[in-house]
Amino acid sequence: MNFKDYIRVIPDYPQPGIRFKDITTLLKDGPVYKAAINELKTFADTLNVDVIAGPEARGFVVGAPLSYAMNVGFIPIRKANKLPYKAIQADYSLEYGSDALAMHEDAIKPGDRVLIADDLLATGGTIETSINLVEQLGGIVVGAVFLIELSYLDGREKLGDIPVSSLITY
Ligand code: 5GP
Repeated sequence: MNFKDYIRVIPDYPQPGIRFKDITTLLKDGPVYKAAINELKTFADTLNVDVIAGPEARGFVVGAPLSYAMNVGFIPIRKANKLPYKAIQADYSLEYGSDALAMHEDAIKPGDRVLIADDLLATGGTIETSINLVEQLGGIVVGAVFLIELSYLDGREKLGDIPVSSLITY
């Protein structure tokens, strides 16, 4: 299946010069969405994953169905001050803008093998911050999965030796 055919590219959104990759056109097609999650599962099944973590909001639509398919738990990584219980925090910068991400302090046990899932890898700032949160709690990031990777932004460099799978590359 050519997943790229299901991505809609929006010029100059949300800022001039950005070519935004809209995944909603893939998500609304049930068999294509399912095939995408299953393909990420084939990769993730090799990593002996205990739990999946995903940053809001689009990391949820990749990470949650994958955790269901793999029969492991899902941990939401949220923007600062959104979580109801005690949380740890880490600052990050995006392709456009900056913010902080947070995770509940009891979300991960030391030694847990964590897969991080998001819709898209751009500069790698979001994944780097997600790794930081997992590692603050003593978790081991064993892999990262994305629907899309913008390879020209070299986000993979932020992942070092961590195995990465992305279905679509620009
Ligand atoms: P990074 O932190 O790697 O620079 O940016 C990746 C994050 O920004 C992801 O969480 C992703 O949701 C969001 N993002 C950046 N550019 C795009 C885009 O073109 N399309 C989509 N769907 N998300 C994007």
